Amino acid sequence: METIDKSMYTPMMRQFLTIKEDYNDAIVFFRLGDFYEMFFTDAYIASRELEIQLTARDAGAKERVPMCGVPHHASEAYIERLINKGFKVAVVEQVEDPSTAKGIVKRDVVRLITPGTYMDIKNDDISYIASVGLNINNYTVSYLDISTGESFSILLPKDQDVLLSELNQIEPKEIIISSYFDQSFLENYTKNNGILVSFNTDTQTPSFMDHLYNNLPSKEEKKTYKRLLNYIIKTQKRELMHLKEVKILEASSYLRMDSSAVKNLELTETMRSSNRIGSLFWLIDKCETAMGSRFLKKQILRPLVNKEIIVKRYDTIDVLNKEFIIKEEINNLLKNVYDLERIVGRISYGNTNAKDLVQLRRSLKVLPELIKNLKALKSDHTDFLSENINSLDELASLLEKALVEDPPLTIKEGNMFKENYDTNLDEIRNSSSNLKIWLKELEQKEQTRTGIKKLKIGYNRVFGYYIEVPKGQIANVKDEFGYIRKQTLSNSERYITDELKSKETIILSGEEKSVKLEYELFLELREITSKNISIIQKNASLISEIDMLIAFSKISEELDLIRPAIIDNDEINIIDSRHPIVEKINPSEAFIPNDIIMDKDVSIKLITGPNMSGKSTYMRQLAITVILAQMGSFVPAKSASIPIFDQIFTRIGASDDLVSGKSTFMVEMLDANNAIKNATKNSLILFDEIGRGTATYDGMALAQAIIEYIHEKIGCKTLFSTHYHELTDLENHLDKLKNVHVSAEDENGKIVFLHKLKEGPTDKSYGINVASLANLPKALIERSKIILNDLEKNHQKLSNDSSITLFNFDEFEEEKTEIPKINNEITDMLNDISIDEITPIEALNILNKIINKI
Ligand code: ATP
Repeated sequence: METIDKSMYTPMMRQFLTIKEDYNDAIVFFRLGDFYEMFFTDAYIASRELEIQLTARDAGAKERVPMCGVPHHASEAYIERLINKGFKVAVVEQVEDPSTAKGIVKRDVVRLITPGTYMDIKNDDISYIASVGLNINNYTVSYLDISTGESFSILLPKDQDVLLSELNQIEPKEIIISSYFDQSFLENYTKNNGILVSFNTDTQTPSFMDHLYNNLPSKEEKKTYKRLLNYIIKTQKRELMHLKEVKILEASSYLRMDSSAVKNLELTETMRSSNRIGSLFWLIDKCETAMGSRFLKKQILRPLVNKEIIVKRYDTIDVLNKEFIIKEEINNLLKNVYDLERIVGRISYGNTNAKDLVQLRRSLKVLPELIKNLKALKSDHTDFLSENINSLDELASLLEKALVEDPPLTIKEGNMFKENYDTNLDEIRNSSSNLKIWLKELEQKEQTRTGIKKLKIGYNRVFGYYIEVPKGQIANVKDEFGYIRKQTLSNSERYITDELKSKETIILSGEEKSVKLEYELFLELREITSKNISIIQKNASLISEIDMLIAFSKISEELDLIRPAIIDNDEINIIDSRHPIVEKINPSEAFIPNDIIMDKDVSIKLITGPNMSGKSTYMRQLAITVILAQMGSFVPAKSASIPIFDQIFTRIGASDDLVSGKSTFMVEMLDANNAIKNATKNSLILFDEIGRGTATYDGMALAQAIIEYIHEKIGCKTLFSTHYHELTDLENHLDKLKNVHVSAEDENGKIVFLHKLKEGPTDKSYGINVASLANLPKALIERSKIILNDLEKNHQKLSNDSSITLFNFDEFEEEKTEIPKINNEITDMLNDISIDEITPIEALNILNKIINKI
């Protein structure tokens, strides 16, 4: 914001300008009465982004100050919109009691909301704020989910690509760096992904938070974590009790996937439309609780490598499958467990309401039964889970005694506490209900005394209690009644009496008192609850795991999955492997299972076969099988034994990265480089048609060199699909490379996909057959056959026979395809409609006819 001479403005505007100086990068929501007002540039931005009216206000200076505003009760929705657009919002409130203030009431920022610290996110969404640091040999990254208090720290090599890949996987909404950090290489990434970069050089944190990061091994990791913590304290301006001890992520402690793999394998969203539906997460998320779903999502992105834990999960699924009645029981109990992690977050934030505590109560109430059922499963892991869940009986019964079933959303209106919880509250409530009875009696007494049957006693905020007499009866109001006229309405007249006024103060102060007392009681209850935060958090994580394991058990039955064997040697042996998503999405087309067998003597499978035959599907299904198996889930096959992989690298499907200005070929090479540089013997590489994005010989040469490099230097299990038939000859030179192909048949010029994987290379490419399926003009297809024939005869060189002058495109009369014909019929039907005359039923009939035609 430009420097403004504050002296020419009113004291209120001067106050705004002073606050704004410290919050230059945020939009300041300045509370005035029932509105949050924005001024100057903030007003321009907010009115544009929120589509609200821009006005102006006199503020002492010659020129009016641009202004716009939003009602305070609806502010959250506006704040959310600004946050989603990558802005920060500083909320300014009065911070002293106006009745005792001398001069202008003090105001200050009570909360700075930033994209990374915004709490109200969708249930299964995970929103992180990250901090990045750099030292001599490493990048350090810390990241935290403020809604659950969970945080992580990871040490990375000093390699910008590795850092970017890690950030891509974390998907933070905001990144905190020191102002000395050279962020130029991050700029493209943050801009294209709408990530806000905030600067914070301060790494001071209060000593009571030391326990959160004392486990971090190095000074640098601590510094990066503390920078994040400092930023959170500064922005949230409150003591956050729900932050959990930072978890150290070691690259070797989970199955690592680069961002391309996460995208290519459609783990959490589809590649084309970024839709959850169609992703692996969508397929397997059968969790009952939001916490379970989030836990599952984290597991998909970071599957395990520890065989012992993986096998424990398989054992639990076996037990759950066997004890299906107990499983059903547990599943039903989980339906009553609310989002404990987020409730705890709100308690810590001080913005919980009585509804949250009722949800906590309901959740705690099911825990004894949950523990009992887990015990009944009689397995090591479920025993461990049941022994560690704490049903917090005392807290549960306190909440039970305290809160009504359906309290209001706000904590400042009363009506939260049950009778018999607090004697003072009961007393106040009794006397105010006595006074209400007194009012009813007064109404009857006055009706009798005045003879006005329709006389009523009412209440409004402005005049308090009044006696209302209908218009037609006003003449009957006599002076001796002592009625004092207060308000005239079109149908009635309202009066007060001295007696009514004297009781009114007592009634209102009683109500005020009880609301105030309830508020205090609530704060007390919240305080007691907050003492149990870490136990509730531990419960939450145990429940998330149970929920996920039950989901695994459900999918093992619904998707017909089997328990894999994790073996210690380097062999893959999967019989009748399937792709569970392709199978689920096209239930009408039977999925053809295929074996994936790679013994210790096979490192690379070179897959050939026509387009559309199922090469990518085959590769993806191996990766998905490995991911499911390493998450501890059963897998889609008849039998499966696999080793533990440390990393998965993929390059599947043609994705370019237009936003960062990289072509398909460039992205392909970057992915290849990432795999080759980082893969170990225990990694899995899936390369789909690498090299196709450039000239044939360049592409083929690169593809061959990459295969040779993997074969000689890395030796990890690799599936490599290609349309370069020439590469199949490599089987004669590389002893650990095997040719396989996906079969197809040519039935009278029409290709039939068999989707079956067979030994050896394919003999034909069928590219032209597939193209004809796409309804390309017949003449074009014929022409391409001639060119192909000629190329094959003359070893990739065109002869004169293939010259365009010898070919007559007009000779091939186009058969009219069905689609234009249908289109014409539909157009005719639509043209025949007279829109002014048609009835809804007729319209529906026509719609039905159109649908049937299509
Ligand atoms: P291209 O070379 O053009 O990339 P591709 O050989 O990689 O093609 P996929 O994309 O794997 O082919 O498969 C094409 C379609 O075939 C899939 O979308 C799926 O519907 C179907 N398909 C693949 N494998 C199978 C299978 N085993 N059983 C049934 N249908 C399959």
